[in-house]
Amino acid sequence: MLYPGSRFRMADDLLEIYIRQLLEAHQTPEVGVNWQGGEPTLMGLDFFKRSIALVEKYKKPGQQVGYTIQTNGVLLDDDWCAFFKAHGVLVGLSVDGPKALHDAYRVNKGGRGSFDQVMRGLACLQKHGADFNILCTVHAANGDHPLEVYRFFRDELQARHIQFIPIVERATAEDLAATNKGWGEQDSAERRLYTQSGALVSERSIGAEQFGRFLIAIFEEWVRRDVGTVFVQTFDVALGSWLGQHNLCVVSPTCGNSLALEHNGDLYSCDHFVEPDHLLGNIRDKPMADMVASDKQRRFGCAKFETLPKYCRNCDVLFACYGDCPRNRFIKTPDGEPGLNYLCAGYKLFYHHIDKPMKEMADLLRQGRYADEVMQSYTIGDNGLPGKVGRNAPCPCGSGRKYKRCHGADAKSRSQPSSTSH
Ligand code: SF4
Ligand code: SF4
Repeated sequence: MLYPGSRFRMADDLLEIYIRQLLEAHQTPEVGVNWQGGEPTLMGLDFFKRSIALVEKYKKPGQQVGYTIQTNGVLLDDDWCAFFKAHGVLVGLSVDGPKALHDAYRVNKGGRGSFDQVMRGLACLQKHGADFNILCTVHAANGDHPLEVYRFFRDELQARHIQFIPIVERATAEDLAATNKGWGEQDSAERRLYTQSGALVSERSIGAEQFGRFLIAIFEEWVRRDVGTVFVQTFDVALGSWLGQHNLCVVSPTCGNSLALEHNGDLYSCDHFVEPDHLLGNIRDKPMADMVASDKQRRFGCAKFETLPKYCRNCDVLFACYGDCPRNRFIKTPDGEPGLNYLCAGYKLFYHHIDKPMKEMADLLRQGRYADEVMQSYTIGDNGLPGKVGRNAPCPCGSGRKYKRCHGADAKSRSQPSSTSH
C-alpha cells in the first residue's frame, strides 16, 4: 500500500548506487550487508551474485564485508546453499516451532503451512555447512509452548543460535477486524497502509505476561544445561546489560542505526517504521551517509530515551530494558502517563527473574572465568547438594559426557555478550 503498483524489485543501477555508498560511507573496517524482505530470495540468486560482485568492485582496502539474509527458507536449494557457504552468508531462518505451531500463521497464499518446505531448506543448509540462526516469532499460537519450541530448535534442528521476536501487531478500533483477518485474506477495498498506530493488538499478538513467562521457561532450561552451547540472543543481550553494555538497539538508551532501504532507494529510519513520517529521502537524490547523520534521524534515535515515561525512568530494570522498542510503546503507565511499552509487564517479570543468575554470570566474566559455571550452582540448588560438579564427573545436563568436555572449561564454544544484530 506504500508503493501501489510497484513490482518491489531493486533496479541494477540502484543496487550499484547503494553498495557504492554503503562502502564509501563506512569508516570502520567491518561492513554488514543485510538482506531482509518481504522475502529476499524472491529476487533470485543472480541479484545476490551481482551484489557480491559490486561489493568486490567498491570495497576499500582493508574492508571486510559480512553478509546476512533473513529468509523463510521456502526457496532454498543446492544452488542457494552452496552460494551462502561460499560467501560466508549468515542465514536467518524463520521457524516458529514444530509443525503445528509453525503452520499456525506461516501459510502460503493457498493457506497451506510452509513447515515442510522450510525443513527441506534447513536440511539443504546443513548439507552444505552454511551458517544459520533460527529466528522465531513469538505469538498467540506458540506463546504457551516455550519448552516445546526451544527443545525442537535445540534437539531436532540442532540450532545453536536462536532469536525470539515478540509479535505485536497494533491496530486502531476501526481496522482491528481487518487486521485480525490477516493480510492475505483482506480484499483490496479493506487494505490499508499499515503504520505503527492504535492501542489495540491483533489476536495473533503475544500477551505481555505471556511473553515474559515464555522467556522465563526457556531461561530456566538454558541456565541449567545450555549456557555456552546454545546462544539465545535475548539472554546474551541481557548478560551484556548486566555487564553495562548495550548490544542491541531495543535495550539501548538511544537507537537509530538500523535503517531500512526500500527497493526504490527510499531510506527509512528503521525497518519497523517504513511509513511516510519516517522517510528520510532517496539515495538517488541524497547521499545515504548524510541522511543517516541528519537531524531527523538523530531526533528519531534520541526520542527512544527522551520519550520514556517516568514509570520507566524510575524502574529498577531500566538498565536492561530502556523501555524496549518505541514501536510497542502505546499503553499507559499505572498513573496514566502515555508511552509505556505494551510488553512491560512481561519484561518486568523476566528481568526480575534472571537478576540473580545474570549477576553471577557477569561476575564470572569479570573474573576472567566462563559464564557457563553458573550451571553448577543451579544444579546444586536443584539437587540440594553441596560442593561443585567435578571436572571429570558426568555433566549435570545429562549428555553422558564429562562435565569439563560438555559444559565445563574445556567445552568448545563460550557464552559471550556478542549479538549486535537487529
Ligand atoms: S529500538 Fe526499535 S525503533 Fe529503534 S532502531 Fe531498534 S527496532 Fe528500530
Ligand atoms: S520493564 Fe517496563 S517500566 Fe521497566 S523500563 Fe521496561 S518498559 Fe519501562
